[in-house]
Amino acid sequence: MQNKIITVQNLVKNYGTFQAVKNISFDVIQGEIFGLLGPNGAGKSTTLEIIETLREKTSGKVIVDGFDLDIHPNEIKKIIGVQLQSSGFYPGLNLLELINLFSGLYNRDVNAMELLQKVNLVDKAKAKSKELSGGQKQRFSIATTLINNPKIVFLDEPTTGLDPQARRNLWELIKEIKSNGTTVILTTHYMDEAEQLCDRIAIIDEGKIIKLDTPDGMIDELVATGFERPKQVKLANLEDVFINLTGKQMREE
Ligand code: ADP
Ligand code: MG
Repeated sequence: MQNKIITVQNLVKNYGTFQAVKNISFDVIQGEIFGLLGPNGAGKSTTLEIIETLREKTSGKVIVDGFDLDIHPNEIKKIIGVQLQSSGFYPGLNLLELINLFSGLYNRDVNAMELLQKVNLVDKAKAKSKELSGGQKQRFSIATTLINNPKIVFLDEPTTGLDPQARRNLWELIKEIKSNGTTVILTTHYMDEAEQLCDRIAIIDEGKIIKLDTPDGMIDELVATGFERPKQVKLANLEDVFINLTGKQMREE
């Protein structure tokens, strides 16, 4: 039996007269990586932030781990990990101090060095967040989502703006989070990221879900319609060439 850890039914979000989310419904299965894939302005962040209890919905029903968003938002807050924008980190504190601060807020006893180890930032324990590269900042902000030992982690465009090595490194980290049994829901506008990382994807455009399936299921369905790529498919792409030339190891440290 697949356990639905998130259920979204007929979700609507209006900003004034503009409808950003247009009556969408989907479930997230416990333990999967679920992706909301869509262009800028599609309504991904709005949807995510409503489920995270950070934004009011206009109408619809959201259940997270059995808790109704309208009745038990505080119960939901206790079991989720939300990625903060790095601009929200106190500039005067180093990474160890920040983790200790958040552990205090969550009332959790966390081994800060162990957590930094998990995201490969032990060397930066005494660094301030503004001294980190883009990839390191993202890894650190993902680490902060894990402090509360959450059942579900929410990541809003975790790899936007990162170079290919840092992106791959982050994909590994997200897969590791899943391998510990944590459910991940993320947004992305990168096709390769959705295909590599997600067990299931909802393609969202102009506030509507236009497709929901596994990446393979979507590709098979398209191929079954007789679709063929106009050019013969090459066995590698330019990103493969780039990674092959420059290596997979991180460049920023
Ligand atoms: P995405 O994350 O997919 O890029 P968003 O959820 O951020 O999309 O935004 C969806 C739409 O709602 C966009 O057209 C955006 O301009 C609009 N929008 C987002 N937040 C607000 C807001 N606070 N007030 C008015 N419109 C907003
Ligand atoms: Mg967004």
